[in-house]
Amino acid sequence: MILVGAWDMGTTTREALGAAREFGEEVTVVNLSADHFGEAAISALAELTRAHRARLVLLARDHRTAEIAPRLSERLGGTSVSQVVAVNGEIWTCAAFGGKALISVKTLCEPVVATLMRRAFSEADIGSAQVVDAPAAAQDDAIELLAHAQPSLGGVALEDAKVIVSGGAGLGDQGGFDELEELAALLGGSAGASLAPVDAGWAPAERKIGLTGKRVHPDVYFAFGISGASQHLTGIAGAKTVVAVNTDPDAPIFKRARVGVVMDCRVLVRALIYHLRNASPPLANANEPGPTTGIFDPTSGEFVVVERIWKGRPEVEPRKTGRASDGV
Ligand SMILES: Cc1cc2nc3c(=O)[nH]c(=O)nc-3n(C[C@H](O)[C@H](O)[C@H](O)COP(=O)(O)OP(=O)(O)OC[C@H]3O[C@@H](n4cnc5c(N)ncnc54)[C@H](O)[C@@H]3O)c2cc1C
Repeated sequence: MILVGAWDMGTTTREALGAAREFGEEVTVVNLSADHFGEAAISALAELTRAHRARLVLLARDHRTAEIAPRLSERLGGTSVSQVVAVNGEIWTCAAFGGKALISVKTLCEPVVATLMRRAFSEADIGSAQVVDAPAAAQDDAIELLAHAQPSLGGVALEDAKVIVSGGAGLGDQGGFDELEELAALLGGSAGASLAPVDAGWAPAERKIGLTGKRVHPDVYFAFGISGASQHLTGIAGAKTVVAVNTDPDAPIFKRARVGVVMDCRVLVRALIYHLRNASPPLANANEPGPTTGIFDPTSGEFVVVERIWKGRPEVEPRKTGRASDGV
């Protein structure tokens, strides 16, 4: 028997169910409430694990389950594995060092309490699964939950976004972040931030991506004016394609990027907004020979030469910065 702990019946629960189905065993989904926090969740899950003689307890990884999983496994006399990205029998593959490395571990005792990384497993329908309500949340003698709230940022949740338009200190000011949010909305994506705009008060803390922020898994991640500190890269380890825009050709973010553009990110943000709103004039100066060399700056009404742009790895020699109208 496998238990899947669920605080809602959303994507992460369906992914945990998908992981559970890979074992081909009976699965029971445990319906937990927001009051199942800390000790309350641990005692409810421990009671049901024993009652169902479950050998696996699968939980979507988040701040809540990261805290309770090791304590639950200790309570049950079992073991725990965290940040699981794949499983094959008793062999669990887990993300380590913020996703920079993978480790394989074999579990030697049961029950196993596993926390699963987002988007690592295919979703399965709750449909035919047995769902049981968790016992009422018990009083926690150590911690009292005073309030819980889900901050509403509007738009697509960062964790679910296929396109993330993220900005850092290079955005310059609050106006830069406001423009970034507009671009994200026009692209049907979500706006993210490095620590710098959050510290500066331009972006809410819920937008922060990284070691102490959210871990995201978009298909495309735009990094505007972000240097690429290791703590930030940890949060985007799951991003498929990174497009980085930075004035510093040696910025570490370019090592993680598939597409790199060396230029003022605010000009590019404004140009993309203009282009997406108006669909004209052309984003790039098509009269210039070779690859894209100019970006239309709606503020000045001129084309700004892109110092360097590449796909895959740097292919184009650096160009002198200046305006296309200057004949550069
Ligand atoms: C314990 C700990 C936890 C942390 N957790 C996180 C975390 O979760 N997330 C996180 O992001 N950081 C985190 N940090 C901070 C992290 O180390 C960096 O300080 C932070 O990511 C830097 O943000 P940034 O890249 O926006 O700013 P900077 O490092 O200042 O980089 C700004 C970049 O913008 C470029 N730039 C400047 N002007 C322009 C322009 N006009 N156009 C284009 N580019 C421009 C610059 O060349 C530079 O590369 C953490 C640090 C610690 C110690």
